[in-house]
Amino acid sequence: MKKLDNMTTFEVAKSSSKLFLLPIGSTEQHGPYLPLGTDTFVTDYLSEQIAKQIPNLIQLPTLNYSCANEHLGFAGTLTLNPQTLMQILTDLCRSVADYSDKIFLLSFHGGNKLVLQLFEAEWNYTHKKSKVYLVDFTSNQTDLIEAKLLKGKVDKHAGNGEISIGKYLFPKNVKFEKTNEKDKKKIILSKVFNRGKIIDYSSIGIIDSNPMWIVSPKVGKKILYSYIDQGVKFIKNEISIQKKGESS
Ligand SMILES: [Zn+2]
Repeated sequence: MKKLDNMTTFEVAKSSSKLFLLPIGSTEQHGPYLPLGTDTFVTDYLSEQIAKQIPNLIQLPTLNYSCANEHLGFAGTLTLNPQTLMQILTDLCRSVADYSDKIFLLSFHGGNKLVLQLFEAEWNYTHKKSKVYLVDFTSNQTDLIEAKLLKGKVDKHAGNGEISIGKYLFPKNVKFEKTNEKDKKKIILSKVFNRGKIIDYSSIGIIDSNPMWIVSPKVGKKILYSYIDQGVKFIKNEISIQKKGESS
């Protein structure tokens, strides 16, 4: 695994690799049981595990802030406006554009999706050599796998899935215990994103339509590895498309 942070500028310049991975984290409320850094911790882990399996991918430092306007009103949330994030990504991608073929963007935070898709499209219209790819976690099987593991609906934010992931990845920072299960309130909403601030719908900041509490580190690990598998497949596929294109 190659991390840009650990390399010298001359190693980067000499590297035969022209593939970069930019992890995009988020600092936002995650309800009463999870820390504000949840999405950043998960993004870091996914990026490291994916980069381990793709040796010539150079992992860039994680961006700890992104678009979390929907979480404003909860203390500790730090958010960028979509235009700001677009500008930061433009600046970062431009920094490596001269010596990169592909820059993969990895974000675990759903609130970034529309902005990142727009950035990907806009960048690729105007850049021929260095292309941007948003690692796609949605078009494949992760939701189906997660729904099976959680025996029902997948939480949209800070519920069963994310608490389970936290129990596996950063258990000391997770406040959820069996004993406080009974006083947990769930919010049953099919559509909340793009409808205003979360705080207007869920005062505790959890969006999870599954009426049951299903929290376990085993489930969390399996969810994470479904994301890792999908991320590796996505990136390897994009790299192989490039190779085929070059040889023809
Ligand atoms: Zn999250």
